[in-house]
Amino acid sequence: MNSNSVAMTDLSEMKHKLETVCIFGTGDFGRSLGLRLLQSGYGVVYGSRGLKNSLLLPKGSKIMSHAEAACEAHVIFVAVQREHYGFLSSLASDLGGKVLVDVSNNLKRGLYPESNAEYLSKLVPGATVVKAFNTISAWALQSGGLDANRQVLICGDSADAKQQVTNIAQSLSFTALDRGSLRAAAELEDLPLQLFPLWRLPLNIAICLTAFIFFYVLTRIVIYERVTNGKDIAFRIMISLANKAFPIVSLVMLSLCYLPGALAGFLQLYNGTKYRRFPDWLDRWMLCRKQLGLVALAFGFLHVLYTLVIPIRYYVRYRINVYTISLVKDNKTYEFDNTAAWRFDSYYSMGILGFGLFVLLGITSLPSVSNSLNWREFRFVQSKLGYLTLLLCTAHTFLYGWNRFLNPESYRWWMPPAYMLSLVVPCVVLILKLILITPCVDRKVTRIRQGWERQGKTSANGGDTKINQRLMA
Ligand code: NAP
Repeated sequence: MNSNSVAMTDLSEMKHKLETVCIFGTGDFGRSLGLRLLQSGYGVVYGSRGLKNSLLLPKGSKIMSHAEAACEAHVIFVAVQREHYGFLSSLASDLGGKVLVDVSNNLKRGLYPESNAEYLSKLVPGATVVKAFNTISAWALQSGGLDANRQVLICGDSADAKQQVTNIAQSLSFTALDRGSLRAAAELEDLPLQLFPLWRLPLNIAICLTAFIFFYVLTRIVIYERVTNGKDIAFRIMISLANKAFPIVSLVMLSLCYLPGALAGFLQLYNGTKYRRFPDWLDRWMLCRKQLGLVALAFGFLHVLYTLVIPIRYYVRYRINVYTISLVKDNKTYEFDNTAAWRFDSYYSMGILGFGLFVLLGITSLPSVSNSLNWREFRFVQSKLGYLTLLLCTAHTFLYGWNRFLNPESYRWWMPPAYMLSLVVPCVVLILKLILITPCVDRKVTRIRQGWERQGKTSANGGDTKINQRLMA
C-alpha cells in the first residue's frame, strides 16, 4: 500500500491541529475513536491490512499500512481483537519507543493466562503499553459521552505514557482515572463483562421474598377460602394479593439496608476494635445497601400505585354499594367511630411521611445529588433520616394491624397475617439500633470507631481499617 494512498477531505483542518494519533484497525471501535479524535483536533492515521474499509473512515483521516502508519505517530491505539495481535510482533522495530494503547476486551473471563495488555507488552517489548478506553463503547465514543459513561480507566507501568493517554482522553471530554500499573489490566478487562454485580443479591432477595410472600398470602386468603367456604376469590390475586406482597417486600428490604450496619456495630463491640476485618458476607451485604434500598423503594412505589386504584376497583365499589344498601334496607345508621378515624388517619399519615422520606433517600443516593453533599450531610440523610423512614414505615404497618395482632380470627390454619411477618426484621433492626444509641453503648462504639482498642486486641488486620470505615458509613 502506498503512503498517503487515500486522503479524505480534511475535516480536522477546521480545528486547531493537535498531534497525530495512529489507530490500528478500521473496525467499529477504530472508526468511532478516529472520528472523535478528529473532532477534537487530532490528526488521525489508520494502520490497516487493506483499503476495504476506507470509504467508511471519518473524513480527514488517512489510511496506510501498519508499518507506515506507526511512523506517523507516537501514540498508537490497537483497535484489533486480541486473537489477531500476532502480526504486531513482526512490527516490533517500527513500534519501538511508541506508546501502544490496548483497548481490547475479551468475550469471557479467564480465557487467557495473562491480560491482553500484558500479552501485547510481551509481543512488543520495545513499546510502552497502556491499557485504556476498553470500558468505553464505540457507541459512547460516537455519541460524545453525553449520555454514556464518561470515565476512562487507565493503567500502565510508565507514568509518562499514561499522562499522554490521559491528555488524549481529556481532550475527548472524558475523565481519566489512573488505576495503577499494567498488572491492573486484567481487572479493567473484567469490568465490561460484569452484569450489575451489586444488583444481583438485592434482586435475588426481592424475587425470593416476593415469591414467598405471594404464595403465603395466596394460601392464607384464596386457597383457605376455597377449601373452607368453597368460594372462588382468585380474582383478588391481581391487586389485593399483589398489594399485600409489595409493601412487605419493601419494608423487609428497607430494614435489610440497616441491619448490616447494626450488626457491624455489635461486631466491633464484641471485637473491642475496629481494626479487624468483617466477615466476607457482611462486607458484601454492606456494599449492596444502596441497591437494596433502591429495590425497596421500587416496591414502595408499586404499593403506592396499587393503593391509589383501590377506590375505583369493581370489587371495592360493589362491597360499598352492598353495605350501603343493606344499611338503608335495615334502616340502620353508619355511626362515626372516632377511634377508627384516628387510626386510619394516623395509618395513612405514617405511610405518606415514610414514603416521602424514602423517596428523599432514593434521590440522595443518586451520584449527581450525593456528590453535592458533604460526608456529614450524606450520613445524616442516609443514616438518621433512613432510620426515621424505617420507623415511620414500621409504625404504618403496626397501625394497619391495630388490634388484630392478638385476635384469633386473624390466624388461618395457624398462619398469621403476612404483615405480622413483615414486622419481624424491622423490629429487630430498630431494637438493635436502640441498644446502639443508648448513651453507654454509643460512647463505647464511638471510641472504638475513633481508634480505641480493648486491651489485648492487636490490630492484626490494620490494613482493613479503611475498608471497614468506608463500609460503616
Ligand atoms: P472489529 O469491528 O471486529 O474490528 C477489528 C479490526 O481489526 C478490523 O476492522 C480489522 O481492521 C482488524 N483486524 C481483523 N483481523 C485482523 C488480523 N487478522 N490482523 C490484523 N488486523 C485485523 O472490532 P471492534 O469492535 O472495532 O473492536 C476492536 C477492539 O476494540 C477489540 O479488541 C475490542 O475488544 C475493543 N473494544 C471494542 C468496543 C466496541 O464497542 N466495539 C468497546 C471497547 C473495546 P483492518 O481490516 O483495517 O485491518
